[in-house]
Amino acid sequence: MHAESSKSGVRATGSCLCGAVRYEVTGALRDVVDCHCAMCRKTHGHIGAYTATPKNSLRLTETRGLRWYRSSADARRGFCSECGGSLFFDPLQKDYVAIAAGTLDPPTGLKTVVQIHVNSAGDYYRIDESIRQRPD
Ligand SMILES: [Zn+2]
Ligand SMILES: [Zn+2]
Repeated sequence: MHAESSKSGVRATGSCLCGAVRYEVTGALRDVVDCHCAMCRKTHGHIGAYTATPKNSLRLTETRGLRWYRSSADARRGFCSECGGSLFFDPLQKDYVAIAAGTLDPPTGLKTVVQIHVNSAGDYYRIDESIRQRPD
């Protein structure tokens, strides 16, 4: 058993590419939502793929590289200032935080269940018809 998974109450661990941001999740993780909106594509370089957990279930274990970008009046996005990795979407008035699924250490045990903002999708790729879609 990995050291991480034997720590009591830790459901998952994750990090950015360089490790200057690391986190643990102690609560439930939602299945993954793919977001096609232009803001996600600009910050991730492609669509956003997010799980989520209650804010009090996210424990930051390394914050050396962590910076927050206020992407709208209602939300901020957390990224690593050393490697550029995008990790978090924090809707300020909500009780959950979204975590970029690609930053989780495998196995995640998650699956992608819905795509949102499909009407805002980029014109350079195809929508996966096998995954449920929402226009906005
Ligand atoms: Zn980093
Ligand atoms: Zn988005």
